[in-house]
Amino acid sequence: MTEQTNSAGENAAAEASAGTAAPKENQVSFNDLGLSDKVLHAVTDLGFELPSKIQERAIPVILGGHDLIGQAQTGTGKTAAFALPLLSKTDFTGKDVRILVILPTRELAIQVAEAFQQFSKYLEDFHVLPIYGGASYETQIRALKRGVQVVVGTPGRVIDLMKREKLDTSHLSAIVLDEGDEMLRMGFIDDIEWILSQIPEERQMMLFSATMPKPIRKVAERYLHSPVEIRIESKTQTASTVRQRYWLVSGMHKIDAMARLLEVEPYDAVLIFVRTKNDAEEVSQKLAARGFACDALHGDIPQKMREKIVDKLRNGQLDILVATDVAARGLDVDRITHVINYDIPYDSETYVHRIGRTGRAGREGDAILFISPRERRALRTIEQSTHQKIEPMKMPTTDDINKHRVEAFKQKILDGLGADDLEPYAEIIAEILEDDSIDPTDLCAVLAKMANGNEPLTIEKPAEEPEQTDFDEIDSARAGRMEKIEQEKIERDGRRLSTEAMPLRDFPDIKMVKYRVAVGRRDGVKPGQIVGAIANEGDIESKYIGHIDIFGSFSTVDLPEMPDEVHDILARAMVCGKPLDIRGYDQVEEDSGEPGRGDFPRGGRSRPRFFSERHGRGDYSDKGSRRGGKPDFRGDDRRERSGFRGDRKDRFPKSRDFGGRRGSRPFNRSGSR
Ligand code: ADP
Ligand code: MG
Repeated sequence: MTEQTNSAGENAAAEASAGTAAPKENQVSFNDLGLSDKVLHAVTDLGFELPSKIQERAIPVILGGHDLIGQAQTGTGKTAAFALPLLSKTDFTGKDVRILVILPTRELAIQVAEAFQQFSKYLEDFHVLPIYGGASYETQIRALKRGVQVVVGTPGRVIDLMKREKLDTSHLSAIVLDEGDEMLRMGFIDDIEWILSQIPEERQMMLFSATMPKPIRKVAERYLHSPVEIRIESKTQTASTVRQRYWLVSGMHKIDAMARLLEVEPYDAVLIFVRTKNDAEEVSQKLAARGFACDALHGDIPQKMREKIVDKLRNGQLDILVATDVAARGLDVDRITHVINYDIPYDSETYVHRIGRTGRAGREGDAILFISPRERRALRTIEQSTHQKIEPMKMPTTDDINKHRVEAFKQKILDGLGADDLEPYAEIIAEILEDDSIDPTDLCAVLAKMANGNEPLTIEKPAEEPEQTDFDEIDSARAGRMEKIEQEKIERDGRRLSTEAMPLRDFPDIKMVKYRVAVGRRDGVKPGQIVGAIANEGDIESKYIGHIDIFGSFSTVDLPEMPDEVHDILARAMVCGKPLDIRGYDQVEEDSGEPGRGDFPRGGRSRPRFFSERHGRGDYSDKGSRRGGKPDFRGDDRRERSGFRGDRKDRFPKSRDFGGRRGSRPFNRSGSR
């Protein structure tokens, strides 16, 4: 693998701008990257000013036709990093699917499909289709029939449509696995390997992931052809004295949150950071429409004009600037009390640079970061590299805002008490109050209303306050969702619900039992490892090992009924670092209602299943001592019928781990899945 880390180039860049905020020399622009004119045009329309680091490095590699491993945290602009070059270089004539992007969730599939849509707006006869579970098959199939060149999908639905021969991948020229570690976490690794095994050998492949856990790296090693590896690392930063908070975007739009925040935060001047020029314009216009004194600052505004805007902020004609990173570089205005990261910065370096715009000249400063649920990792990365905790915050409620407005209004009145030009007004009031029937409070209320103007002082309370969430809530909701996904997976395949074992094709007369073992997809287990462990430890030929199903936390395996002795050994056999803990599948459900817990049923009803029916040996039924006599499994006929060669307890170590290299022994069969 060709490894390119960012250290060398970046250190140079860091030195060039060390300590100062001068614009970086030889900053690469989108024009320098070799993208097609049509794609560049779309990027310009979107208002992207400069490529992010991963874009700067990945785009030329992908244009050059190389496979790629891209490691960069969330929010670093990975989508454009692969979409822009792929859209630039791929020949889209014809209706075949040329690019397949695999993502873990429906939301991401839609989001990335939308990005492709935006980047491809100047390409003709070009279509992108997101495909994901839970949506109608018909619509997706119809679209596929009409012809789409890019499919962005979740693994389950992609496989479904491939198996139904609705999604033809034989003309693929590129495949992208995005959010690799997330796909691993959600148990999609086997699905991905299946997809990869079906697509043409000759294709370009890109793998993006925020982290590189081992199983992901394994997939990379197996399927990528001499990939270029790009890693964007966050560098450690020096601590800042600015108070830092984050708001988890939820319950309301960011722009509404921004307005609420600006109502109650005691600020002098505020710098709001967004990602694009267009966003700078849009956010600034929306805030201005709500009565805030603000303007936009970005790279399309001529330098002279920019200086004027900054001057206005400095002398108080403006209180709020909505800026891009490029335009705000080096901005030095003492009045800035607050930096709001309306959009998350690409990296912690940029974050530190942004928040450094406040707390200047030894004053206090506040930094607030808007962060969406899926950007959590970026938050942790910033915390880690700045060695500072960023505290969660909630947006003010309507009550908070109203209370604040009333307080501010009161204060304004009280502040006016000391003024020395009140005399003429006091005379008027005294005259009015000569009329005894007028209550002074009423009179003041009239004046207060006049002073407030036409707008009501407080805002109306909505029937329900927007619900804001936190990461803990999201975690538990997610756990619930994962469980549901698991359940759906089980239900999707009716046979998996069955506790009946399938007979062996070659030995239909052998009575089979469905067993459950305590390793599953989450442990990264492969059918081969289970076969390996059972064949070796149980001393059974693998041809007698039947159907295997892998689930999230456990797996099932169909085996000939096994003697206790064999069971005892198998229960202790290690796979993926865990004991197999083998037990009858139906028994587990009956006993505890909770597969995976409790002990293997000993004695009781379970016993006859193993012994008495078949061998009629009374001493092995209910009351029989299991340690007493051993069944003779060496009898030839029985061996044939049972598949097991007998009690090998004495000849096998107590436990052995088949999760590692051992799993790759040649077995006759590798299960079915
Ligand atoms: P990731 O996949 O790394 O989490 P995304 O590709 O989703 O990040 O990009 C995050 C956001 O940044 C998107 O809203 C995208 O439009 C924006 N973005 C990406 N590249 C740029 C750029 N060069 N300039 C401005 N905004 C960008
Ligand atoms: Mg992404």
